[in-house]
Amino acid sequence: MTVYVLHIDPPFKHARHYIGFTPDPTADRRVSEHLNGLFKGTPLIKAALDAGHSVRLAHQFPGANREFERWLKDRKDVRSWCPCCGVNTRPIPSPGSISDAYRRKKAREQAEYQGRAA
Ligand SMILES: [Zn+2]
Repeated sequence: MTVYVLHIDPPFKHARHYIGFTPDPTADRRVSEHLNGLFKGTPLIKAALDAGHSVRLAHQFPGANREFERWLKDRKDVRSWCPCCGVNTRPIPSPGSISDAYRRKKAREQAEYQGRAA
C-alpha cells in the first residue's frame, strides 16, 4: 500500500494537491491511471487535466496506510514540503510521525460519531 501526493500546476480552482491511497506497493500504476483518466475515483484530477493543468506525482510514501492518508489531509500543509512547490519550509513528513495525541483525538471523534449515529 502507498500514499501519494499529486501536484497540480497551476492550482485548479483552489486545489494545489491531491492526496491519495492505493493498495499497490508503489503509486506508479495508480498515477498513470489518474493521468490517463482511467481512475474514476477522482473527478478533481480529471477536471484539472481537462482544463489543461499539469498534474504530476510530487511524492509517494510506500507502506503508508489509510490512517497516514487521513493524517496528511488533516495537516493541510502539503505546500510547505511538496518538492514540486519548492517552498520547503517543513520536512517531508513520515508515517512514523503520527502522534498519540492525534490517534486519541481521532478515536474520540469516531466514538462521538458512532454515538450520534446510534
Ligand atoms: Zn506542490
